[in-house]
Amino acid sequence: MFFRCSICSFGLLISVFLWTVSATAQEIKGPIVDAYGAIAKQLIEAGHKSNDSMRKLEELCDGIGHRLSGSASLDRAIEWAQATMKADGQENVRAEKVMVTKWVRGKESCELVEPRSEPISMLGLGGSIGTPAEGLTAEVIVVGSKEELDALPAEKVAGRIVVFNAAMPKYTAENGSGYGTAVQYRGSGAKWAAEKGAVAALVRSVTATSLSTPHTGAMRYGDAKQQIPVAAITIETAMMLQRLQDRGVTSKVKLSMEARTEGEAPSANVLAEIVGREKPEEIVVIGGHIDSWDVGQGAHDDGAGCVAAMEALNMLRKLGLQPRRTIRVVLWTNEENGLAGAKDYAARHQRELHVAGIEADSGGFAPEGFTVEMNDAKKADLALEQLQQIASLLKPIGATKAMLGGSGADVGQLKQLGTACLGLEIDGRTYFDFHHTWADTVDKVNPKELTDCAISLAVASFILADMPQRMGER
Ligand SMILES: [Zn+2]
Repeated sequence: MFFRCSICSFGLLISVFLWTVSATAQEIKGPIVDAYGAIAKQLIEAGHKSNDSMRKLEELCDGIGHRLSGSASLDRAIEWAQATMKADGQENVRAEKVMVTKWVRGKESCELVEPRSEPISMLGLGGSIGTPAEGLTAEVIVVGSKEELDALPAEKVAGRIVVFNAAMPKYTAENGSGYGTAVQYRGSGAKWAAEKGAVAALVRSVTATSLSTPHTGAMRYGDAKQQIPVAAITIETAMMLQRLQDRGVTSKVKLSMEARTEGEAPSANVLAEIVGREKPEEIVVIGGHIDSWDVGQGAHDDGAGCVAAMEALNMLRKLGLQPRRTIRVVLWTNEENGLAGAKDYAARHQRELHVAGIEADSGGFAPEGFTVEMNDAKKADLALEQLQQIASLLKPIGATKAMLGGSGADVGQLKQLGTACLGLEIDGRTYFDFHHTWADTVDKVNPKELTDCAISLAVASFILADMPQRMGER
Protein backbone atom coordinates (compact mmCIF):
# COMPACT_ATOMS: atom_id res chain seq x y z
CA MET A 1 0.00 0.00 0.00
CA PHE A 2 1.83 2.90 1.30
CA PHE A 3 4.90 3.90 -0.60
CA ARG A 4 5.69 0.71 -2.46
CA CYS A 5 3.61 -0.66 -5.18
CA SER A 6 0.59 -2.66 -4.72
CA ILE A 7 -2.49 -2.50 -6.74
CA CYS A 8 -4.29 -1.26 -3.63
CA SER A 9 -2.36 1.85 -3.26
CA PHE A 10 0.36 4.11 -4.49
CA GLY A 11 2.45 3.23 -7.42
CA LEU A 12 1.39 0.33 -9.50
CA LEU A 13 2.67 -2.64 -11.29
CA ILE A 14 4.76 -0.33 -13.38
CA SER A 15 7.05 -2.93 -14.78
CA VAL A 16 4.54 -5.73 -15.04
CA PHE A 17 3.68 -5.19 -18.63
CA LEU A 18 7.17 -4.59 -19.90
CA TRP A 19 8.05 -8.25 -20.05
CA THR A 20 5.19 -10.45 -20.94
CA VAL A 21 6.01 -14.01 -21.78
CA SER A 22 2.92 -15.95 -22.55
CA ALA A 23 3.10 -19.65 -22.23
CA THR A 24 0.11 -20.07 -24.47
CA ALA A 25 2.01 -19.34 -27.67
CA GLN A 26 4.08 -22.48 -27.67
CA GLU A 27 4.16 -25.69 -25.70
CA ILE A 28 6.36 -25.22 -22.65
CA LYS A 29 8.61 -28.16 -21.82
CA GLY A 30 10.99 -28.84 -18.97
CA PRO A 31 11.69 -30.84 -15.82
CA ILE A 32 9.08 -28.97 -13.76
CA VAL A 33 6.37 -29.75 -16.32
CA ASP A 34 7.44 -33.41 -16.33
CA ALA A 35 7.62 -33.75 -12.55
CA TYR A 36 4.48 -31.85 -11.55
CA GLY A 37 1.99 -32.21 -14.40
CA ALA A 38 0.03 -34.96 -12.65
CA ILE A 39 -0.13 -33.15 -9.30
CA ALA A 40 -1.28 -29.91 -10.97
CA LYS A 41 -4.03 -31.85 -12.74
CA GLN A 42 -5.05 -33.49 -9.48
CA LEU A 43 -5.26 -30.12 -7.69
CA ILE A 44 -7.27 -28.52 -10.48
CA GLU A 45 -9.76 -31.39 -10.57
CA ALA A 46 -10.11 -31.59 -6.80
CA GLY A 47 -10.48 -27.81 -6.49
CA HIS A 48 -13.21 -27.70 -9.09
CA LYS A 49 -15.03 -30.61 -7.51
CA SER A 50 -15.25 -29.03 -4.10
CA ASN A 51 -13.59 -26.22 -2.25
CA ASP A 52 -14.37 -23.93 0.60
CA SER A 53 -13.15 -20.57 -0.66
CA MET A 54 -16.54 -18.90 -1.22
CA ARG A 55 -17.88 -20.04 2.15
CA LYS A 56 -14.77 -18.63 3.80
CA LEU A 57 -15.21 -15.34 1.94
CA GLU A 58 -18.84 -15.09 3.05
CA GLU A 59 -17.92 -15.79 6.66
CA LEU A 60 -15.27 -13.09 6.57
CA CYS A 61 -17.19 -10.44 4.61
CA ASP A 62 -20.82 -11.00 5.60
CA GLY A 63 -20.08 -12.21 9.13
CA ILE A 64 -17.40 -9.68 10.07
CA GLY A 65 -17.44 -6.98 7.40
CA HIS A 66 -14.83 -4.37 6.63
CA ARG A 67 -11.62 -4.40 8.64
CA LEU A 68 -9.75 -1.15 9.08
CA SER A 69 -6.48 -1.21 11.04
CA GLY A 70 -7.15 -0.72 14.74
CA SER A 71 -10.84 -1.63 14.47
CA ALA A 72 -12.72 -4.25 16.49
CA SER A 73 -13.80 -5.93 13.25
CA LEU A 74 -10.18 -6.45 12.19
CA ASP A 75 -9.54 -8.07 15.59
CA ARG A 76 -12.49 -10.38 14.94
CA ALA A 77 -11.16 -11.23 11.47
CA ILE A 78 -7.78 -12.15 12.94
CA GLU A 79 -9.48 -14.46 15.45
CA TRP A 80 -11.66 -15.94 12.69
CA ALA A 81 -8.70 -16.65 10.39
CA GLN A 82 -6.88 -18.53 13.16
CA ALA A 83 -9.95 -20.53 14.16
CA THR A 84 -10.71 -21.38 10.53
CA MET A 85 -7.20 -22.59 9.71
CA LYS A 86 -7.08 -24.59 12.96
CA ALA A 87 -10.36 -26.22 11.95
CA ASP A 88 -8.78 -27.03 8.57
CA GLY A 89 -6.09 -28.91 10.47
CA GLN A 90 -3.21 -26.58 9.64
CA GLU A 91 -0.01 -26.55 11.67
CA ASN A 92 1.57 -23.74 13.68
CA VAL A 93 -1.48 -21.51 13.41
CA ARG A 94 -0.70 -18.31 15.26
CA ALA A 95 -1.00 -14.54 15.41
CA GLU A 96 2.06 -12.32 15.63
CA LYS A 97 1.36 -9.00 17.31
CA VAL A 98 2.00 -5.83 15.34
CA MET A 99 1.24 -2.24 16.35
CA VAL A 100 -0.69 -0.38 13.67
CA THR A 101 -1.84 3.17 13.10
CA LYS A 102 -5.44 3.80 14.14
CA TRP A 103 -7.19 6.26 11.86
CA VAL A 104 -10.86 6.93 12.51
CA ARG A 105 -13.19 8.39 9.90
CA GLY A 106 -15.91 9.72 12.18
CA LYS A 107 -18.92 11.49 10.72
CA GLU A 108 -18.36 13.26 7.45
CA SER A 109 -20.35 15.14 4.84
CA CYS A 110 -19.94 17.45 1.91
CA GLU A 111 -22.44 19.73 0.23
CA LEU A 112 -22.62 22.11 -2.63
CA VAL A 113 -23.67 25.51 -1.25
CA GLU A 114 -23.42 27.63 -4.43
CA PRO A 115 -24.66 27.94 -7.15
CA ARG A 116 -27.31 25.67 -5.61
CA SER A 117 -27.74 23.41 -2.62
CA GLU A 118 -27.08 19.69 -3.05
CA PRO A 119 -25.37 16.93 -1.04
CA ILE A 120 -22.07 15.73 -2.51
CA SER A 121 -21.20 12.05 -2.24
CA MET A 122 -17.75 11.77 -0.63
CA LEU A 123 -15.34 9.64 1.39
CA GLY A 124 -12.56 11.14 3.48
CA LEU A 125 -9.13 9.82 2.59
CA GLY A 126 -7.33 7.60 5.08
CA GLY A 127 -4.84 9.58 7.13
CA SER A 128 -6.59 12.91 6.65
CA ILE A 129 -7.19 15.33 9.49
CA GLY A 130 -10.71 16.58 10.10
CA THR A 131 -12.27 20.00 9.62
CA PRO A 132 -13.26 22.36 12.43
CA ALA A 133 -16.44 21.10 14.14
CA GLU A 134 -18.60 23.63 12.31
CA GLY A 135 -17.20 22.47 8.96
CA LEU A 136 -15.31 24.42 6.38
CA THR A 137 -17.03 26.45 3.67
CA ALA A 138 -15.08 27.90 0.76
CA GLU A 139 -15.09 28.55 -2.96
CA VAL A 140 -13.58 25.82 -5.06
CA ILE A 141 -10.86 26.04 -7.68
CA VAL A 142 -10.70 23.08 -10.07
CA VAL A 143 -7.42 21.90 -11.62
CA GLY A 144 -6.90 19.07 -14.07
CA SER A 145 -3.32 18.35 -13.05
CA LYS A 146 -0.46 19.24 -10.71
CA GLU A 147 0.98 21.39 -13.50
CA GLU A 148 -2.24 23.38 -13.69
CA LEU A 149 -2.11 23.97 -9.93
CA ASP A 150 1.54 25.02 -10.10
CA ALA A 151 0.75 27.54 -12.84
CA LEU A 152 -1.92 29.31 -10.78
CA PRO A 153 -0.99 32.48 -8.85
CA ALA A 154 -1.16 31.86 -5.09
CA GLU A 155 -4.01 34.36 -4.62
CA LYS A 156 -6.25 32.21 -6.84
CA VAL A 157 -5.78 29.26 -4.48
CA ALA A 158 -5.42 30.84 -1.02
CA GLY A 159 -8.44 30.23 1.21
CA ARG A 160 -10.11 27.94 -1.34
CA ILE A 161 -10.81 24.24 -1.67
CA VAL A 162 -8.73 22.75 -4.48
CA VAL A 163 -10.55 20.13 -6.56
CA PHE A 164 -8.22 17.78 -8.43
CA ASN A 165 -10.05 16.61 -11.54
CA ALA A 166 -7.44 14.29 -13.03
CA ALA A 167 -8.99 11.40 -14.97
CA MET A 168 -7.73 7.86 -14.53
CA PRO A 169 -7.05 6.31 -17.96
CA LYS A 170 -9.28 3.40 -18.97
CA TYR A 171 -7.98 -0.16 -18.66
CA THR A 172 -6.34 -1.62 -21.74
CA ALA A 173 -4.95 -5.11 -22.20
CA GLU A 174 -1.64 -3.58 -23.23
CA ASN A 175 -1.15 -1.09 -20.40
CA GLY A 176 -3.37 -2.47 -17.67
CA SER A 177 -5.16 0.01 -15.42
CA GLY A 178 -4.29 3.69 -15.27
CA TYR A 179 -4.19 3.54 -11.48
CA GLY A 180 -0.52 4.41 -11.17
CA THR A 181 -0.88 7.70 -13.02
CA ALA A 182 -4.02 8.84 -11.18
CA VAL A 183 -3.29 7.76 -7.61
CA GLN A 184 -0.67 10.47 -7.01
CA TYR A 185 -3.48 13.00 -6.57
CA ARG A 186 -5.06 10.92 -3.82
CA GLY A 187 -1.67 10.45 -2.16
CA SER A 188 -0.23 13.95 -2.43
CA GLY A 189 -3.08 16.28 -3.45
CA ALA A 190 -3.57 17.68 0.06
CA LYS A 191 0.12 18.51 0.40
CA TRP A 192 0.25 20.23 -2.99
CA ALA A 193 -2.94 22.23 -2.36
CA ALA A 194 -1.75 23.31 1.12
CA GLU A 195 1.52 24.59 -0.32
CA LYS A 196 -0.52 27.08 -2.35
CA GLY A 197 -2.61 28.15 0.65
CA ALA A 198 -5.75 26.05 0.10
CA VAL A 199 -7.91 25.22 3.13
CA ALA A 200 -8.95 21.73 1.93
CA ALA A 201 -8.71 19.45 -1.09
CA LEU A 202 -11.18 17.24 -2.92
CA VAL A 203 -9.83 14.55 -5.22
CA ARG A 204 -11.62 12.90 -8.13
CA SER A 205 -11.92 9.21 -7.18
CA VAL A 206 -9.21 6.93 -8.54
CA THR A 207 -11.31 4.90 -10.94
CA ALA A 208 -12.06 5.02 -14.65
CA THR A 209 -15.72 4.04 -14.22
CA SER A 210 -18.31 5.43 -11.83
CA LEU A 211 -21.93 5.13 -10.89
CA SER A 212 -21.58 8.14 -8.59
CA THR A 213 -19.35 6.14 -6.24
CA PRO A 214 -16.59 7.74 -4.17
CA HIS A 215 -13.39 5.70 -3.59
CA THR A 216 -11.34 6.12 -0.44
CA GLY A 217 -7.67 5.20 0.01
CA ALA A 218 -4.51 6.35 1.68
CA MET A 219 -3.15 9.87 1.56
CA ARG A 220 0.02 11.20 3.12
CA TYR A 221 1.13 14.61 4.28
CA GLY A 222 4.83 13.76 4.06
CA ASP A 223 6.83 16.83 5.00
CA ALA A 224 3.92 19.23 4.45
CA LYS A 225 4.21 22.37 6.57
CA GLN A 226 0.44 22.73 6.67
CA GLN A 227 -2.00 19.81 6.97
CA ILE A 228 -5.44 20.29 5.40
CA PRO A 229 -8.40 17.90 5.22
CA VAL A 230 -8.87 15.88 2.03
CA ALA A 231 -11.68 13.73 0.68
CA ALA A 232 -12.54 11.82 -2.47
CA ILE A 233 -15.53 12.90 -4.56
CA THR A 234 -17.11 11.06 -7.48
CA ILE A 235 -16.10 11.45 -11.10
CA GLU A 236 -19.55 12.94 -11.69
CA THR A 237 -19.13 15.68 -9.07
CA ALA A 238 -15.59 16.52 -10.17
CA MET A 239 -16.73 16.89 -13.77
CA MET A 240 -19.69 19.05 -12.77
CA LEU A 241 -17.49 21.40 -10.74
CA GLN A 242 -15.17 21.59 -13.74
CA ARG A 243 -18.05 22.47 -16.07
CA LEU A 244 -19.32 25.17 -13.70
CA GLN A 245 -15.87 26.72 -13.49
CA ASP A 246 -15.40 26.56 -17.27
CA ARG A 247 -18.64 28.55 -17.66
CA GLY A 248 -17.42 31.14 -15.19
CA VAL A 249 -19.79 30.07 -12.41
CA THR A 250 -18.42 30.19 -8.86
CA SER A 251 -19.01 27.06 -6.78
CA LYS A 252 -18.92 27.00 -3.01
CA VAL A 253 -18.67 23.79 -0.98
CA LYS A 254 -19.08 22.96 2.71
CA LEU A 255 -16.89 20.11 3.96
CA SER A 256 -17.31 18.52 7.42
CA MET A 257 -15.04 15.72 8.62
CA GLU A 258 -14.36 14.31 12.10
CA ALA A 259 -11.39 12.28 10.79
CA ARG A 260 -8.51 11.82 13.17
CA THR A 261 -5.57 9.56 13.94
CA GLU A 262 -5.75 8.02 17.41
CA GLY A 263 -2.16 6.86 17.77
CA GLU A 264 -1.40 3.16 17.54
CA ALA A 265 -3.38 0.03 18.35
CA PRO A 266 -2.42 -3.64 18.64
CA SER A 267 -3.12 -5.86 15.63
CA ALA A 268 -1.52 -9.02 14.22
CA ASN A 269 -0.39 -10.99 11.20
CA VAL A 270 -1.92 -14.47 11.01
CA LEU A 271 0.27 -17.46 10.08
CA ALA A 272 -0.40 -21.14 9.36
CA GLU A 273 1.69 -23.88 7.79
CA ILE A 274 2.10 -27.20 6.13
CA VAL A 275 5.51 -28.10 7.51
CA GLY A 276 7.92 -29.39 4.87
CA ARG A 277 8.94 -33.05 4.88
CA GLU A 278 12.65 -32.61 4.04
CA LYS A 279 13.59 -28.97 4.42
CA PRO A 280 11.07 -27.56 6.88
CA GLU A 281 13.33 -24.59 7.56
CA GLU A 282 12.96 -23.38 3.97
CA ILE A 283 9.75 -21.39 3.47
CA VAL A 284 7.38 -20.59 0.63
CA VAL A 285 4.89 -17.88 1.66
CA ILE A 286 1.43 -17.37 0.18
CA GLY A 287 -0.93 -14.69 1.38
CA GLY A 288 -2.95 -11.51 1.21
CA HIS A 289 -3.80 -8.72 3.61
CA ILE A 290 -6.42 -9.21 6.31
CA ASP A 291 -7.11 -5.49 6.80
CA SER A 292 -9.29 -3.41 4.47
CA TRP A 293 -10.71 0.09 4.25
CA ASP A 294 -13.69 0.91 6.44
CA VAL A 295 -16.25 0.78 3.63
CA GLY A 296 -17.92 -2.12 1.82
CA GLN A 297 -16.68 -5.58 2.81
CA GLY A 298 -13.14 -5.64 1.46
CA ALA A 299 -14.25 -8.62 -0.64
CA HIS A 300 -11.93 -8.22 -3.60
CA ASP A 301 -9.48 -6.12 -1.57
CA ASP A 302 -8.31 -8.30 -0.08
CA GLY A 303 -10.70 -10.83 1.43
CA ALA A 304 -10.37 -12.79 -1.81
CA GLY A 305 -6.59 -12.97 -1.56
CA CYS A 306 -6.77 -14.12 2.07
CA VAL A 307 -9.30 -16.88 1.52
CA ALA A 308 -7.57 -18.01 -1.69
CA ALA A 309 -4.36 -18.53 0.28
CA MET A 310 -6.19 -20.21 3.19
CA GLU A 311 -8.03 -22.49 0.80
CA ALA A 312 -4.90 -23.29 -1.22
CA LEU A 313 -3.33 -24.68 1.95
CA ASN A 314 -6.57 -26.51 2.74
CA MET A 315 -6.62 -28.16 -0.71
CA LEU A 316 -3.05 -29.38 -0.29
CA ARG A 317 -3.82 -30.64 3.22
CA LYS A 318 -6.94 -32.51 2.12
CA LEU A 319 -5.00 -34.26 -0.66
CA GLY A 320 -2.20 -35.14 1.74
CA LEU A 321 0.34 -33.24 -0.35
CA GLN A 322 3.30 -32.45 1.88
CA PRO A 323 6.08 -30.71 -0.05
CA ARG A 324 9.82 -30.82 0.59
CA ARG A 325 9.77 -27.29 2.09
CA THR A 326 7.27 -25.53 4.35
CA ILE A 327 4.34 -23.64 2.84
CA ARG A 328 3.26 -20.81 5.12
CA VAL A 329 0.12 -18.73 4.77
CA VAL A 330 0.67 -15.16 5.96
CA LEU A 331 -2.28 -12.80 6.27
CA TRP A 332 -0.65 -9.42 6.70
CA THR A 333 -2.24 -6.64 8.71
CA ASN A 334 -2.26 -2.90 7.92
CA GLU A 335 -1.46 -3.10 4.20
CA GLU A 336 -3.81 -0.27 3.38
CA ASN A 337 -2.52 2.45 5.65
CA GLY A 338 0.92 1.70 6.95
CA LEU A 339 2.32 -1.66 5.83
CA ALA A 340 3.25 -2.34 9.47
CA GLY A 341 2.35 -6.04 9.15
CA ALA A 342 4.61 -6.69 6.17
CA LYS A 343 7.49 -4.75 7.69
CA ASP A 344 7.15 -6.60 10.99
CA TYR A 345 6.99 -9.99 9.24
CA ALA A 346 10.09 -9.30 7.13
CA ALA A 347 12.06 -8.09 10.18
CA ARG A 348 10.90 -10.80 12.58
CA HIS A 349 11.55 -13.64 10.11
CA GLN A 350 14.62 -12.27 8.35
CA ARG A 351 16.84 -15.15 9.50
CA GLU A 352 14.56 -17.78 8.01
CA LEU A 353 15.22 -18.84 4.43
CA HIS A 354 12.33 -17.60 2.33
CA VAL A 355 12.67 -19.32 -1.02
CA ALA A 356 9.63 -17.63 -2.55
CA GLY A 357 6.55 -15.65 -1.62
CA ILE A 358 3.32 -15.15 -3.54
CA GLU A 359 0.91 -12.32 -2.80
CA ALA A 360 -2.69 -12.31 -3.97
CA ASP A 361 -3.85 -8.71 -3.77
CA SER A 362 -5.28 -7.79 -7.14
CA GLY A 363 -8.84 -8.95 -6.53
CA GLY A 364 -10.51 -12.34 -6.77
CA PHE A 365 -11.07 -12.27 -10.53
CA ALA A 366 -10.03 -14.90 -13.07
CA PRO A 367 -6.32 -15.61 -12.56
CA GLU A 368 -4.09 -15.02 -15.58
CA GLY A 369 -0.71 -16.07 -14.21
CA PHE A 370 2.09 -14.66 -12.11
CA THR A 371 4.70 -11.92 -11.97
CA VAL A 372 8.07 -12.51 -10.37
CA GLU A 373 10.80 -10.18 -9.15
CA MET A 374 14.17 -10.82 -7.51
CA ASN A 375 16.97 -8.50 -6.47
CA ASP A 376 19.47 -10.47 -8.52
CA ALA A 377 18.71 -9.99 -12.25
CA LYS A 378 20.32 -13.28 -13.31
CA LYS A 379 18.34 -15.22 -10.73
CA ALA A 380 15.20 -13.38 -11.82
CA ASP A 381 15.70 -14.57 -15.41
CA LEU A 382 16.04 -18.15 -14.21
CA ALA A 383 13.04 -17.74 -11.93
CA LEU A 384 11.04 -16.55 -14.93
CA GLU A 385 11.95 -19.70 -16.86
CA GLN A 386 10.80 -21.83 -13.93
CA LEU A 387 7.64 -19.76 -13.58
CA GLN A 388 6.82 -20.29 -17.27
CA GLN A 389 6.84 -24.02 -16.67
CA ILE A 390 4.71 -23.74 -13.53
CA ALA A 391 2.16 -21.44 -15.20
CA SER A 392 1.93 -23.74 -18.22
CA LEU A 393 0.48 -26.37 -15.88
CA LEU A 394 -2.41 -23.98 -15.16
CA LYS A 395 -3.54 -24.03 -18.78
CA PRO A 396 -6.90 -25.66 -17.90
CA ILE A 397 -7.80 -22.53 -15.91
CA GLY A 398 -6.11 -20.04 -18.23
CA ALA A 399 -3.49 -18.79 -15.77
CA THR A 400 -0.51 -19.32 -18.05
CA LYS A 401 1.15 -15.91 -18.04
CA ALA A 402 4.64 -15.60 -16.56
CA MET A 403 6.12 -12.13 -16.35
CA LEU A 404 8.94 -10.23 -14.75
CA GLY A 405 7.32 -7.48 -12.69
CA GLY A 406 6.24 -6.10 -9.32
CA SER A 407 4.83 -8.65 -6.86
CA GLY A 408 2.93 -6.93 -4.06
CA ALA A 409 3.35 -4.42 -1.27
CA ASP A 410 3.49 -7.05 1.49
CA VAL A 411 5.51 -9.87 -0.01
CA GLY A 412 7.74 -7.29 -1.69
CA GLN A 413 9.24 -6.62 1.76
CA LEU A 414 10.99 -9.99 1.42
CA LYS A 415 12.80 -9.00 -1.77
CA GLN A 416 15.67 -7.51 0.22
CA LEU A 417 16.23 -10.96 1.75
CA GLY A 418 16.86 -12.43 -1.71
CA THR A 419 13.43 -14.06 -1.90
CA ALA A 420 11.72 -14.66 -5.24
CA CYS A 421 8.63 -12.45 -4.88
CA LEU A 422 5.58 -13.32 -6.96
CA GLY A 423 2.23 -11.66 -7.55
CA LEU A 424 -0.90 -13.50 -8.61
CA GLU A 425 -2.08 -11.72 -11.75
CA ILE A 426 -5.78 -11.55 -12.42
CA ASP A 427 -8.10 -10.20 -15.09
CA GLY A 428 -8.01 -6.59 -13.90
CA ARG A 429 -10.59 -5.05 -16.21
CA THR A 430 -13.12 -4.17 -13.50
CA TYR A 431 -11.11 -4.29 -10.27
CA PHE A 432 -10.87 -0.53 -9.88
CA ASP A 433 -14.62 -0.05 -10.42
CA PHE A 434 -15.14 -1.45 -6.88
CA HIS A 435 -11.77 -0.75 -5.29
CA HIS A 436 -12.01 0.97 -1.84
CA THR A 437 -15.77 1.58 -2.14
CA TRP A 438 -19.00 0.53 -0.44
CA ALA A 439 -19.51 -1.70 -3.51
CA ASP A 440 -16.55 -4.04 -2.82
CA THR A 441 -18.86 -6.79 -1.59
CA VAL A 442 -19.14 -10.58 -1.89
CA ASP A 443 -21.67 -10.43 -4.75
CA LYS A 444 -18.92 -8.95 -6.97
CA VAL A 445 -16.84 -12.12 -6.58
CA ASN A 446 -17.43 -15.00 -8.99
CA PRO A 447 -17.12 -18.33 -7.12
CA LYS A 448 -15.43 -20.12 -10.05
CA GLU A 449 -12.89 -17.33 -10.45
CA LEU A 450 -12.14 -17.29 -6.72
CA THR A 451 -11.70 -21.07 -6.81
CA ASP A 452 -9.25 -20.71 -9.69
CA CYS A 453 -7.26 -18.17 -7.65
CA ALA A 454 -7.00 -20.71 -4.82
CA ILE A 455 -6.00 -23.47 -7.25
CA SER A 456 -3.33 -21.24 -8.81
CA LEU A 457 -1.82 -20.56 -5.39
CA ALA A 458 -1.98 -24.24 -4.43
CA VAL A 459 -0.24 -25.44 -7.60
CA ALA A 460 2.44 -22.74 -7.66
CA SER A 461 3.25 -22.90 -3.95
CA PHE A 462 3.42 -26.69 -3.95
CA ILE A 463 5.84 -26.80 -6.88
CA LEU A 464 8.02 -23.99 -5.48
CA ALA A 465 8.12 -25.76 -2.11
CA ASP A 466 8.79 -29.17 -3.59
CA MET A 467 11.12 -28.78 -6.59
CA PRO A 468 14.68 -29.89 -5.80
CA GLN A 469 16.31 -26.52 -6.46
CA ARG A 470 15.26 -23.18 -4.97
CA MET A 471 13.48 -20.75 -7.25
CA GLY A 472 16.03 -18.70 -9.18
CA GLU A 473 18.71 -21.40 -8.80
CA ARG A 474 19.78 -24.20 -11.14
ZN1 LIG B 1 -5.25 -4.77 -1.24
